[in-house]
Amino acid sequence: MGREIKSEPALLQEVRKYGQFDVGGCYNCGSCTISCPLSGNLTTFPRRVMRYVLFGLKDLLNSSLEPWMCYYCGDCSTACPQQAEPGEAMMTLRRYLTAQYDWTGLASRLYSSAAWRIGANFFTGLFVFLIVFFYHLYDVKLSGSDFFPRSMPLEHMFPTMIYFTLAVFVIPIALLLTNAARMHSFIIGRENIKVPLSLYLKQLGTFVVHAFTQKRFRECKDKGRWIKHMIMVSGFIVPSLLVLFFLRWFQTDNIYPVYNPQRWLGYLATIALLYGSIETVIGRIRKKGQMHRFSSPDDWVLPAFLFLTAVSGITIHICRYAGLAMVAHYAYFAHIIIVVPMLVIEIPFGKLSHIFYRPLAIYLHSVKQRAAIEQNNLTEAKVA
Ligand code: SF4
Ligand code: SF4
Repeated sequence: MGREIKSEPALLQEVRKYGQFDVGGCYNCGSCTISCPLSGNLTTFPRRVMRYVLFGLKDLLNSSLEPWMCYYCGDCSTACPQQAEPGEAMMTLRRYLTAQYDWTGLASRLYSSAAWRIGANFFTGLFVFLIVFFYHLYDVKLSGSDFFPRSMPLEHMFPTMIYFTLAVFVIPIALLLTNAARMHSFIIGRENIKVPLSLYLKQLGTFVVHAFTQKRFRECKDKGRWIKHMIMVSGFIVPSLLVLFFLRWFQTDNIYPVYNPQRWLGYLATIALLYGSIETVIGRIRKKGQMHRFSSPDDWVLPAFLFLTAVSGITIHICRYAGLAMVAHYAYFAHIIIVVPMLVIEIPFGKLSHIFYRPLAIYLHSVKQRAAIEQNNLTEAKVA
């Protein structure tokens, strides 16, 4: 028996809490589909999910992966004769879906209220400030060192630094995984499809490839945007992996020669973060290109975090090499206060979650497609 489809008239109002969604004028002409380089053989992309919202089909919307298949090149919005802004509608739906996957309800608060987003990040930063401050007091008392440090010994902070770093990565990643389980239950759990575990494992490569290459983005007409996005993502991923897996090598009192990977990987990541964040903010201020015409608070908060992370990192680096221990110490303090809210709030509940959800959506789509093919002896074209 097919699943019951209910209509929820309040869905349109609910979706509009997450951004621009003004598709009432759409007369289904299909110009957006024709202009979209990613529509492939989906003749209703990106219009189908817009219809779900207009008809109040919340279950179908929540189980749809289509908003994640869009990389927001904006070509469909440019082609739309009704100024329905389908590209921005897809962006709004990605925010809406992020909030639906999140069982805590915090993502919904953050995406629908600038005050909540600023407050959550501010209070997390304040909490970190208090932890680091009292740890410093305790450390001064225990070691008898000066309150205002004259050197910046990182080594003596181990193993506390390892536990702290693990906590600020493991907690948001664990939350994100629980949300991913919910996403899976929306997409596959509600379908009448049995997916063997072996199929999940066999398709894992799809997730890895799309997570590290964003290769569908390359199919958009403006290849420059794919390159810029890759630069910004690598500026975040590379230092995160270094800190998570090579902390003792990366955070050290040793001053390595400039050709050592510890130095040049750090420099490359910093340049990537600075370039990506500044380019994004300038694009948004100038409203350069279709994808920058509408900006939500999350569109400003993330580049601001990435920029401040890079600047505080550069300050620590310069001060350490210049022998300005006290300034380096406080810059490190500031760096942690900036980075922790970005990780703890923005990874599971904010814009950074899309780095994970998009490849996961592509992976789940391929799993679902393969399962349907195997179960019903269909061809790929028939289940697309
Ligand atoms: S191009 Fe505009 S009016 Fe035409 S189907 Fe797409 S959103 Fe609707
Ligand atoms: S924004 Fe670009 S990728 Fe997204 S639906 Fe429109 S044309 Fe397709």
